[in-house]
Amino acid sequence: MYRTHTCGELRIADSGRSVTLAGWVQKVRKLGGMTFIDLRDRYGITQLVVEADAPASLVETASTLGREYVLQVEGEVVERASKNSKMPTGDIEIKLASINILNKADTPPFTIEEDTDGGEDIRARYRYLDLRRPPLQRALALRHRLAHELRNYLDSHGFMEIETPYLIKSTPEGARDFVVPSRMNPGTFYALPQSPQTFKQLLMVAGYDRYFQIVRCFRDEDLRADRQPEFTQIDCEMSFVEQEDVLNMFEGMMRTMFKNALGVDIPDPLPRMSWYDAMDRYGSDKPDVRFGMEIHEISSLVKGCGFGVFDSAAYVGAIAVPGSADYTRKQLDEITEWVKRPQVGAKGLVYVKLNSDGSIKSSVDKFYSPEQLKAVADSIGASAGDLLLILCGDKRKTQNQLGVLRVEMGGRLGLRDPKVFAPLWIVDFPLFEWSEEDGRFYAMHHPFTAPKPEHLDWYYSDKKEDLERVCANAYDFVLNGTELGGGSIRIHNADMQKRMFEILGIGKEEAEYKFGFIINAFKFGAPPHGGLAFGFDRVCALFGGQETIRDYIAFPKNNQGRDVMIDSPSQIDDIQLEELHIAISK
Ligand code: ASP
Repeated sequence: MYRTHTCGELRIADSGRSVTLAGWVQKVRKLGGMTFIDLRDRYGITQLVVEADAPASLVETASTLGREYVLQVEGEVVERASKNSKMPTGDIEIKLASINILNKADTPPFTIEEDTDGGEDIRARYRYLDLRRPPLQRALALRHRLAHELRNYLDSHGFMEIETPYLIKSTPEGARDFVVPSRMNPGTFYALPQSPQTFKQLLMVAGYDRYFQIVRCFRDEDLRADRQPEFTQIDCEMSFVEQEDVLNMFEGMMRTMFKNALGVDIPDPLPRMSWYDAMDRYGSDKPDVRFGMEIHEISSLVKGCGFGVFDSAAYVGAIAVPGSADYTRKQLDEITEWVKRPQVGAKGLVYVKLNSDGSIKSSVDKFYSPEQLKAVADSIGASAGDLLLILCGDKRKTQNQLGVLRVEMGGRLGLRDPKVFAPLWIVDFPLFEWSEEDGRFYAMHHPFTAPKPEHLDWYYSDKKEDLERVCANAYDFVLNGTELGGGSIRIHNADMQKRMFEILGIGKEEAEYKFGFIINAFKFGAPPHGGLAFGFDRVCALFGGQETIRDYIAFPKNNQGRDVMIDSPSQIDDIQLEELHIAISK
């Protein structure tokens, strides 16, 4: 047996026991004639001691040890003279009788401790060393735990885990496909799934009425923000259900995960908000409702007073930033510059300070009396001490900018505590999005999403304004300003599916070529069905109180989509290219 205990296990009650431990050397310290060694494994750290009067060969071996050497040690558990209350094993140490060096190690390029001195790039290159660090081990342990919880929950509700293929044909999630050339079928390509969407629907046609899968999905997108080219979804589908059934089932799943993994109770039932409400009040379809500071339209109060900028705007909206009326000129200039950055895109910013002495100071004093500004403040429920920030322009665009500003101000005020969880459902999405640029409709979710039954007349209408009004039978699960999941009740009837392709401008032939198999399947008794998918990496990160998903993936890619550890993507040799019937043009 390599070890009798792990490095996180022994306590004062074990004093006097003879034990064998195995692990990595985190640190060696010499003190007088004694040598102290911190031995680490994924369960913790135990202090080892080689006494000054230990056999010479043992003292000698101890003096050769370096960081990350792999050891097997034998010794006796003894009470420490100076205890360390910060470590679970801090009351004891192991008085060593022998050290067996199982493997030597080169000096690692960064410290392998709770906090490290290694930069991101070097840690990515030596990911297996970074993974030895406790924060990453905790992250992966949480991921494992959550996967276990959700499997248990879904299994106990009759869901079957069924794998679907990776070498498929393009799926309609709206991103670019990764493709794989087929050697056996020259000139043709598989696409890697952006999601198992079509397969899970075919499983419903096949009668497997409760399906799930923890599955890798692939999307060839520019890796802005916190995205990975391959990521994991908790993908689910159910038959004979309506929206209500799906929401209940999966908020139950999230509730169980919150309770069992974090000991956190989330509201029962979860709040729901319509997409229109979310846009009007938060300027976002994934509102962070951990704090208020809602957006209010103030157009009717400020238009027609001679301030041309507002007069000519389609929409004027404001947020009231609590307790921030004491912002200095410099701070206000800085926020103004901030909203003008291309990422936010506002043209300018108007402020109104509701000073705590009751006076009002604004950047538009020339055009509005204090009474008028007070009326604006009252209309949005702002009070003395608050700072109003006002933007104007096109309605949705301005709401969106106010939403971004709101989240920024919430962050600056410390209102976005990662340990506070405010989940909710967003429902009643528009089914279509009109693109001015392309002069056509796009599916807001994907082309298998069903319209609300009460909007079917509009769905079959030829008028653009009718189609714009159609709501989807779709829903998103949002947590702390992040969309964690989403799905819909699907179309299960071939005619309705054909109409969808028609509205999206997907011609008969193209629809047949891309999705003929599913239209065909719908002719053979497709049951009503619906489902959703959660982004598992992001679920893990948010449960762990972090914003980035990278720590929750054992071997992630960097911002350029590269794995710098294995150096991929990389070139392949000419013979491989030839076999694949591929020539590199540049
Ligand atoms: N396939 C969808 C997605 O990846 C989720 C769903 O509709 O179930 O976003």
